[in-house]
Amino acid sequence: MIRAFETLAAKANEANKPNENDYFGEDGLLYCGKCNEVKQCKVTMLEKTYTMPIMCACDKAEKAALEKYRWKERIEDMKEQAFSDGALKNCTFETDDSKGRLVSKKARQYAEEFDPAKSKWLLMYGDCGTGKSFLAACICNAVIERGFSARFTSISEIESELWAAADKGTVYNSLKKYDLLVIDDLFAERETEYMMEIVYNVVNARYNCRKPTIITANISVADLVDSPNANKKRIFSRIAELVEPWKISGKDRRLVKLKQTLLGQKSSK
Ligand SMILES: [Zn+2]
Repeated sequence: MIRAFETLAAKANEANKPNENDYFGEDGLLYCGKCNEVKQCKVTMLEKTYTMPIMCACDKAEKAALEKYRWKERIEDMKEQAFSDGALKNCTFETDDSKGRLVSKKARQYAEEFDPAKSKWLLMYGDCGTGKSFLAACICNAVIERGFSARFTSISEIESELWAAADKGTVYNSLKKYDLLVIDDLFAERETEYMMEIVYNVVNARYNCRKPTIITANISVADLVDSPNANKKRIFSRIAELVEPWKISGKDRRLVKLKQTLLGQKSSK
């Protein structure tokens, strides 16, 4: 035991050699030449005293800066993997130009309170261009910044992965590992048996692991409930108990932007 401690102390001192301006105080301990804080402490064991290195203010600051850097790198990595469309990494609540609307506030609150074990499923529905995907991407980014894993995907993206995979099961299983999954533009795909089966399997994979999922769809809840398509009905009944429907309304933001650009061009002529 004492031998092990001696080795540990020797190794620790070896790894923490004095810097150029460090000096020894009257107590025989090493002091930092920069912040003047003590860099060693005394440990007595079986009547023998050893010195062990401890962190001065500079060391603590350096360690904190390194941890912050590593955290930022990790978040960047996670965002890189979360979106296949790199532009979506930049969708944040800060860049939301309709911050004031209720649904934007609700989305921000959802991200701030996100808990993989408790958060609800969301069905963001509404017309084209009302910002459903934007809000879902904002939530995805904010959740990643809190350290959770997330992925923003679509059925057509998953279909490509299935097509390339030797074992389809691994594709569905991989969807279970994320704390949050966003399925963008659900039901935009062809209504073939094949595509509907994929939709059902994706939804089912998330249902079985009971992890929060956000679905954006250009379709209303009524459309789903009364859908003449039996597959859609089956899918909706699977998620009905979990999902909280959010209607996203407003003018088509893409059209508004296009009009503004065109008007700007006119007036500058
Ligand atoms: Zn120091």
